Formats: sequence, C-alpha cells, structure tokens
Amino acid sequence: MTIADAHIARKRFGQNFLHDPRIIAAIIQAIDPKPGDRIVEIGPGQAALTAPLITTIGRVHAIEIDRDLAARLRERFTESELAITEQDVLRTSFFALAHQLGGPLRVVGNLPYNISTPILFHLLESAEHITDQHLMLQKEVVDRMVASHGSKIYGRLSVMLQARYQMERCLAVPPGAFIPAPKVDSAVVRMVPLQSAAVKVRDWPIFAAVVALAFSQRRKMLRKSLATYSAMLEWETLGIAPTQRAEELSVDQFVGLANAVASLPLESRQGIEPRFS
Ligand code: SAM
Repeated sequence: MTIADAHIARKRFGQNFLHDPRIIAAIIQAIDPKPGDRIVEIGPGQAALTAPLITTIGRVHAIEIDRDLAARLRERFTESELAITEQDVLRTSFFALAHQLGGPLRVVGNLPYNISTPILFHLLESAEHITDQHLMLQKEVVDRMVASHGSKIYGRLSVMLQARYQMERCLAVPPGAFIPAPKVDSAVVRMVPLQSAAVKVRDWPIFAAVVALAFSQRRKMLRKSLATYSAMLEWETLGIAPTQRAEELSVDQFVGLANAVASLPLESRQGIEPRFS
C-alpha cells in the first residue's frame, strides 16, 4: 500500500475516525488549547483533532502505534508542527515526556476503546506530570468513572479515578460521528488531577489493592471480602460498618480504609498484593 491509498481502519488498534466537523469543533472548544500548551495526543489517527490543534497552538506531540498512520502524518505535517512518538502508549513514559517538553502536559485523545481502561490507569501513574486530560471513551465507561457510591455502576474505576481527579463529562458523541461507526455511544470526559494537598491516599499500591479486593466480591460484606485483616481494623474509628458492602462506601471512606491498612504492621498486610492497576 502507498501513502496515496486510503487508509483502511484497523480494528485491532481500535480505529474509529472522527469525521463530524461540529463534534470535532466542540471537542477542540472543550480542550480550549492555548499557545504554549504542551499538548500530547494519544492516537492522532488521521489528524481529525491534531490538525485543528496545530492550527491553534502551532505544535503537538503525538503517540501513534500504527506505522502507516505515522508515515502519513509525517507526510502531512512538518516536524516542528507534529512530533510523533511511534509506539504503544502503554509503553510511553509521560514522566519522561513532561521532562523532555519542559513541564506538565495536557493530554488529549480519542482513545482506542479496546485498551481505554489500561490507558486510564497508565495515565494515573503520571498524574502529577499532567495538567489535564480530555479523553473520548465509550459513554458507558465515562458513566462508570463519574458514578457515585450507591449506584450500580459505581466500582473500582470510579473510586480509583475520583481519588485522584476532578472529572466532568463534557460531551456526548453518537456513533455516526465516526467512520467506521462504533457499535456504542461515546463521551468526552475532562479529568483534572487534584492538587497534591487534596490527595489523601498515603500508599497508592495498597489503595489499589484494597479497592480491587473489596470490589472483587462487590455484594459481599467488607468483613468477608477483606477478611484477612478485618479483625485488625478499627472500623468504628473509620466510620465504616464491617457489614457494609464495597458499593456503599464513598471514595473518602475507601481512602480512610486503605490508609488504615497501610499503617498496619507489614506482616499483618499479608493477603494484600500491592498493585497499581
Ligand atoms: N484521533 C483520531 C480521530 O479522532 O479520528 C483517531 C482515533 S482512533 C479511535 C484511535 C487511535 O489510536 C488510532 O489512530 C490508533 O491507531 C491509535 N492507537 C491504538 N492503539 C494504540 C496504542 N496502544 N498506542 C498508541 N496509539 C494507539
């Protein structure tokens, strides 16, 4: 295939290209790019968002896994307009990128939906190097991200992300805005990392492990799902009843619970596999 041929969307890379000019304009408006912004785009594809971003701020850094698309983008834009890192975003260090570009990043992207949750957790690890994120995801995933406790869709994703970001849904996007059209509705979410003083989690791997364990059996009482060290926790001081279920706990209560686990002596934390994502 030559560059002159039309690109055929690759399912394995989650390629659904935006083509509706009104939706593209609304996303750019939500991002509100300003000259001097260090914008990093995940998956520029055929430049539906990249081109208007370059027009506004002059230069974009993009991460694209598809070699053919990267080659096409290099044909279309100069190196000073578009710097392309040709690799898997999950292997990209946003810390190193922020260092290289000289400060915190603004991350944007119409994400490949097949790996959107791993991307969210990967970005979470670098939250301190990111000013904000505007991401297009499956609407159902965005609904779970912003869900409150007590809701049926409140879960691990809601707790992990709400403990680190202020989030809002900016835009709903119908399947017809893409070629090829996905089978699901989409939405754009704005995620702003909380200031460090507002982040109350003491130990992220333990927080992640406690949240994962509690939701691994979401209908079970916490004293069962967290049985290994339940007896060592001062539930009353935490303001949590051991008979409560994961979906009933607020994000703050989860943070308190995980911080209490983190302060237990090391040997009593057995059964907790520290993990980040
Ligand atoms: N931004 C374009 C648009 O809005 O039309 C394309 C969006 S398309 C949903 C997802 C893009 O992410 C594609 O360009 C795809 O090749 C790229 N992509 C998929 N998996 C990736 C990965 N692991 N790392 C980097 N880019 C990836």
